[in-house]
Amino acid sequence: MKKLQMVDLKSQYDKIAATVNASIQGVLDTNTYINGPQVHAFQKSLEEYLDVKHVIPCANGTDALQIAMMGLGLKPGDEVITADFTFAATVEVIALLQLTPVLVDVDLDNMNISIDAIKKAITPRTKAIVPVHLFGRAANMEAIMAIAKEHNLYVIEDNAQAIGANCTFSDGTKKKAGTIGHVSSTSFFPSKNLGCYGDGGAIFTNDDDLAHIIRGIVNHGMYERYHHDVVGVNSRLDSIQAAVLNAKLPFLNSYNNARRDAAAKYNAALSGHSNIVIPEFDSNGDDHVFHQYTLRIIDKDRDGLMQHLLDKGIPCAIYYPIPLHLQKAYLDVRYKEEDFTITNQLVTEVISLPMHTELDDEQIKFITDSVLEYLK
Ligand SMILES: *Cc1c(COP(=O)(O)O)cnc(C)c1O
Repeated sequence: MKKLQMVDLKSQYDKIAATVNASIQGVLDTNTYINGPQVHAFQKSLEEYLDVKHVIPCANGTDALQIAMMGLGLKPGDEVITADFTFAATVEVIALLQLTPVLVDVDLDNMNISIDAIKKAITPRTKAIVPVHLFGRAANMEAIMAIAKEHNLYVIEDNAQAIGANCTFSDGTKKKAGTIGHVSSTSFFPSKNLGCYGDGGAIFTNDDDLAHIIRGIVNHGMYERYHHDVVGVNSRLDSIQAAVLNAKLPFLNSYNNARRDAAAKYNAALSGHSNIVIPEFDSNGDDHVFHQYTLRIIDKDRDGLMQHLLDKGIPCAIYYPIPLHLQKAYLDVRYKEEDFTITNQLVTEVISLPMHTELDDEQIKFITDSVLEYLK
């Protein structure tokens, strides 16, 4: 059996090595390391793929979130509502910009931000909502956009984990996650669904004025050379990373399909067990692109299962072990434990199994057999 890994980037690379190498060689041949034509080409291709007017590449997904918030002109003290159950980057940039993070609970079934919890958290100071499409599963953007419209709030989608996922609306129309809110961010960290071979990120928006503002912010607040109109940052996608992404973007749909296939096989083997809640496969067909394959373990020792799998050489991980509202950096006297029943429950139940584009049937069988062997 091929060695089990949480993410197998080497096997994926081996299949496209010639294309990736040629693309990188193009940067070396032209010495266009910063803002080269590869960056521009990637921007255009991604705009087309997502069907969004503007993609602004930047250095990583955390910068992308920060710059999106800077672009909206949010001011210190403005309240920004986001999910309690996510990677810390989301709340980190809110706090860094001296905005006030307001963490709220998530839903048990899809682990995304709870619509009821958002409604409860809105105050006159609320300015924005940041849904995270967690583990590749699109959040309920239809409901979130309706709340935002009613209360005149911005919506910033953290799409670091769900590039290529669709959001299906009740009238049957589909839009790509990350193209529905006022502005969105993504990450091209190597293990993400569209990963480069280092750091990378991007901001998306359909708003021409906002896109213009953001293009200046990523470049030291410059709209005209050496004229600094606003306080900006330096955040660039380098040309070599753009070259990798140009080679990989044509495979994104097949990569996401490979993840969905693996998830379907995991689900088939693990469904119906009284101690396992398998991830919900959305009925729309493509709202979940399985950045992670995450089970909930009920009434059994989740940590014991994890140790059993590790002992058998099966990598697995707890995403995420501590809710953000209990992290030292983000404690807030306003938070009440009874408002976080779902995240407090999820951190004790979740376990993520290997998920990537190169999983084969033998590996999946070994992993699911090992899970069932422990839970019996
Ligand atoms: C990976 C990730 C980020 C940050 O991306 P980086 O490129 O590592 O800065 C932000 N939000 C979520 C939900 C992520 O998974």
